Amino acid sequence: MTVPSPAKLCVTVTAATTAELVRRRDAVPEADLIELRLDGVGDLDVDAVLAGRTRPVLVTCRPTWEGGAYDGDERQREAVLTRALAAGADYVDVEWRAGFDALLARGGRRIVLSSHDFSGVPGDLLAQARAMAATGAGVVKIAITTRRLSDCLPLLSVRRELPPDVQTVLIGMGDTGIATRVLAARFGSVWTYAGALRGVGQVSAERLTSVFRYRAVTAATAVYGLLGNPVHHSVSPEMHNAAFGATGVDAVYLPLPAVDVADFQSFAEAIGLQGASVTIPFKRDCLAFVEAPEPSVARIGAINTLKRSPSGGWLGRNTDGEGFLAPLRRRGMTLEGCRAALLGAGGSARAVAVALRDEGALVTVHARDRAKAEAVAVETGSATGPWPPADGAWDLLVNCTPVGMFPAVDAVPVPLAIPATGVVYDLIYNPPVTRLLEQAAHAGAQAVGGLEMLVAQASAQFGWWTGHVAPDAMMAEAARARLSEFNANDTHLL
Ligand code: NAP
Repeated sequence: MTVPSPAKLCVTVTAATTAELVRRRDAVPEADLIELRLDGVGDLDVDAVLAGRTRPVLVTCRPTWEGGAYDGDERQREAVLTRALAAGADYVDVEWRAGFDALLARGGRRIVLSSHDFSGVPGDLLAQARAMAATGAGVVKIAITTRRLSDCLPLLSVRRELPPDVQTVLIGMGDTGIATRVLAARFGSVWTYAGALRGVGQVSAERLTSVFRYRAVTAATAVYGLLGNPVHHSVSPEMHNAAFGATGVDAVYLPLPAVDVADFQSFAEAIGLQGASVTIPFKRDCLAFVEAPEPSVARIGAINTLKRSPSGGWLGRNTDGEGFLAPLRRRGMTLEGCRAALLGAGGSARAVAVALRDEGALVTVHARDRAKAEAVAVETGSATGPWPPADGAWDLLVNCTPVGMFPAVDAVPVPLAIPATGVVYDLIYNPPVTRLLEQAAHAGAQAVGGLEMLVAQASAQFGWWTGHVAPDAMMAEAARARLSEFNANDTHLL
């Protein structure tokens, strides 16, 4: 029996000058293969680019007509690649559409024959893959543009249909294609590309190896993920992957930005997804297909966790309530008879109201839209109160609105008089200390931030999926690190 092994890691390096390309080549900390992108190098010296290398290299000079930066003469480009081959490059990338037949013949197994479709998934993908394989190139690389998770699936069919001895690299470009990169081994790729080409959905080598633990991911690794849209801001991949690593569970957790439930379901079935966290906008939609939801799920009207059932369907749970209560229990707070005022009447308010009612708290829902507050109150056995809540009317105040969340960190949901005896709990976790919590601390009240809840609800998910006790402190640290990275960049990080 062969032991499943991870796919290799190819790190892409670009630069404007030969000297800088060589410097970056040598600065790559970890790679099985380094892709040297010659397009974009102004003073190109092919021999200098290859001289003194200590690791295998793949030389690419991508033309503009295939998404690259080279816009010069095609014969000259062919000459550059031929020179790279002669100078001992381990692989040379040749576009299938380039028509460089002499180079293909000369390069043989050292050729990576590539095809990139920036418009979508080609209708004749399989025929194209077969034609590329028939050239005898060493590696057939096919990159398609994915706009939904299920656009990745034709790549699995390509791998199944090609003869096993044909080596492939199969990539879905775009955020919905991240599975093809992290799960390179499952997609039958001999390597995946990592680097700074964010436009095509590349993930940095650092993130691929440290967060997604790429070096441990094989075709047998169990797959979990975060179903939502958008999900790029989430810290859940950091938390769950850190937990898988720490507990030795052979599993990986991916962002899954589905366009709709059907997209998620097709992807999940084809990949054999074992479980998922669920966030906006799918928390309610998923209720439709879970088997025997627990009673609290029906009262909350939403789930935040899916787990594969023994019959191959899905079980659904909502760990938000448990996650919400954990920090209060940790503080020894008595909830029986406690007057709790909730700000907001959305999904989280519903879960918090159910959790607090089950603990015997007297819950009042306050929202800028009174009708929405009333709907939540009726469904959760709570009362409705004015917006804003009256002074002295609560012992525990919970912010269930997104007001104060990054980047609008100076906002508070509503002006309030905070008593020193009160507890203020803000579900927002980015930033970990909101303006509302600063005000609470200033008033001498207890302040509880949403990061604790975030970790506790994830910890409950992890326990349900794996049967292991989650490493909470490590998950919290992973979440904090990601948040500070995200806020420092104020950008879309993948
Ligand atoms: P949601 O379903 O969209 O509900 C948001 C609620 O906030 C709605 O009632 C909305 O009122 C109200 N709201 C929005 N903007 C407002 C404003 N400017 N002034 C007053 N009310 C406003 O969202 P959710 O899922 O409940 O999430 C709410 C927050 O909790 C988010 O920041 C989320 O990140 C956080 N959260 C944290 C955790 C955790 O683990 N820490 C878990 C879940 C949620 P309208 O309907 O009138 O717009």
